[in-house]
Amino acid sequence: MVDKVIPLADHRYASAVPLIPANLAAPTGTLNDTLARPLRDLRISVTDRCNFRCGYCMPKAVFTPQYEFLPHSSLLTFEEITRLARLFVAHGVHKIRLTGGEPLLRKGIDQLVRQLSELRTPEGQAVDLTLTTNASLLVKKAQLLRDAGLQRITVSLDALDDAVFRRMNDADFPVADVLEGIEAAERAGLGPIKVNMVVKRGTNDHEILPMAAHFRHTKVTLRFIEYMDVGATNGWRMDEVLPSADVIARINDAYPLERLDSNERGETARRWRYRDGSGEIGVISSVTQAFCRDCNRARLSTEGKLFLCLFATHGHDLRALLRGGATDLEIASAIGLVWQRRGDRYSDLRATGGETALDGAAPRRVEMHYIGG
Ligand code: SAM
Ligand code: SF4
Ligand code: SF4
Repeated sequence: MVDKVIPLADHRYASAVPLIPANLAAPTGTLNDTLARPLRDLRISVTDRCNFRCGYCMPKAVFTPQYEFLPHSSLLTFEEITRLARLFVAHGVHKIRLTGGEPLLRKGIDQLVRQLSELRTPEGQAVDLTLTTNASLLVKKAQLLRDAGLQRITVSLDALDDAVFRRMNDADFPVADVLEGIEAAERAGLGPIKVNMVVKRGTNDHEILPMAAHFRHTKVTLRFIEYMDVGATNGWRMDEVLPSADVIARINDAYPLERLDSNERGETARRWRYRDGSGEIGVISSVTQAFCRDCNRARLSTEGKLFLCLFATHGHDLRALLRGGATDLEIASAIGLVWQRRGDRYSDLRATGGETALDGAAPRRVEMHYIGG
């Protein structure tokens, strides 16, 4: 008899099988956590693998060729993902973002998009379905994704200068190919496209203005993300964070800006527009201006663990329920209970100095490539 091999990655983060409550309750579409935050947004990581090695996410020194990624059998199948997504939608989720690792590396991703695009909210609306990608495979896949029902796309790009970008992705990937990917996505009808730039002081902050200049007068919304202390491998230091207020001040000097209202509650980006009408930008200030108060996001990891916060140290193992034969009603009730007990607000606590999860004895924090952005 062959011993059952339990993949290493399954043990990497603490998790527990969620409790199925004695009183099963069908989803009502309105679920609130302990801070009265509804469940609206689900981010699904479809692979923990990536062909880039961005230093702030998957530093090459840690994610070596020997690194053990999840084996295929650990990953949720498309049917499992769709089944869970349907239950989340019944609980009130109306926005689903596919992410990773690099989501376009997952074989047959368009098939998953097709399945998810068929979901309907309790009000009968299609879910807002989107995907975040490094764009390396976008030229090849944009039309396929659009045809499968993907509505929009977000592309990550940290610099326009080729040498800076190649250094940051640490995979020698050229800027020109990302720009071509963006064009292909626009042609395919995946706009309006958002471009995310993670700003690291001293590494790419001199690229803020060139990026702003490049995407002004286009339909692309550029968003500047503060470098975050996610995971435990990126060697994060506060002095490498450039506060969004500084980003806005620098751009405003060159191209005057004015604030815009947010589109909806729980929106992560603060919106600004150029006073001359040449477009819109956003800043995501996860470090300097916490937005936990309205955080309505749940994250489903590649292997089916539910995380309630980007900075969580443990997940809720929904795959165990799926593969253990639980019914939809049981799984939905378990998800309901987990969300109702949620009180996560890491960034708020970090801002007030109350966060203690970073001390040595604390459980390991989840990595961005595993949980998705
Ligand atoms: N591979 C895809 C990509 O890069 O777009 C999707 C996954 S990636 C984890 C999702 C987003 O998280 C990207 O926009 C990336 O720039 C961002 N991200 C990763 N690590 C980060 C960090 N330490 N701080 C801020 N943003 C980060
Ligand atoms: Fe890969 Fe995206 Fe992480 Fe960069 S940010 S290493 S592209 S998963
Ligand atoms: Fe949401 Fe956690 Fe980020 Fe706060 S720190 S906004 S709770 S993901």
